Amino acid sequence: MIILVTNDDGINSPGLQRLVQELAHVGEVYVVAPEREQSACGHAITLHKPLRMTPIALPKAASAYATNGTPADCVILGTLGDLPRPDIVVSGINAGANLGEEVLYSGTCSAAMEAVLQDLRAIAVSVCAYTDVLYDAAAQYAAKLVRAVEGSPSFPENTFLNMNLPNVAPEALREPLWTRLGRRKYSNILNRRDDPRGRPYYWFSGSPMEHDAGEGTDIRAVREGHVSITPVHFDLTGDLSHAELPGIMRRLREDDT
Ligand code: MN
Repeated sequence: MIILVTNDDGINSPGLQRLVQELAHVGEVYVVAPEREQSACGHAITLHKPLRMTPIALPKAASAYATNGTPADCVILGTLGDLPRPDIVVSGINAGANLGEEVLYSGTCSAAMEAVLQDLRAIAVSVCAYTDVLYDAAAQYAAKLVRAVEGSPSFPENTFLNMNLPNVAPEALREPLWTRLGRRKYSNILNRRDDPRGRPYYWFSGSPMEHDAGEGTDIRAVREGHVSITPVHFDLTGDLSHAELPGIMRRLREDDT
């Protein structure tokens, strides 16, 4: 089995290195990852400058390359370039949760989505902590999930699996659950300050306030100590049967001002 590993924390991140060690027991691991951190870059791709792949020595990897691209670029480079076509793409292990709408900002998840667009099976793996991150359980579960997926004759179309783990030792984890995306809202998201020359600047930060952490959500599962796995589909089409849509269309067609 050929596995392509990427991430958004950069090729030197301990999460990626721990993941590669564990996946090397499951298959032949190739790594194409950003040379520096690209967290929250979403599904950006690079069209206006050349991309480079610099070979890097990485223990247990068949080969590894640092790139000047985004995580989605890394998947394109790893699947359409000179490397063998992977059977599965694994993105992570990210330091920090990718729950609810964070999936949309996440470079980790966008790399997995890019693999979906390349008609490949893909998994994104995140641990819900930024400091003192415990990668062992996530690495072990990533390897288990790859094996479980490998044994599956079919796989949901246009979908990747978004796995999040609480930051605990393997023996403290509760069993994995299928979940849906919850919704997180952030408090104090935009900070306005003045720079030393008296001009305003703005900085996104803030902490998530859990908004929809209801039954069945990824947020609830992780909070209760489970491994959360959400199938994420690329189709963002909204509710075409919504009662207001015909009226909006009628007004649009009648509006000749
Ligand atoms: Mn990250």
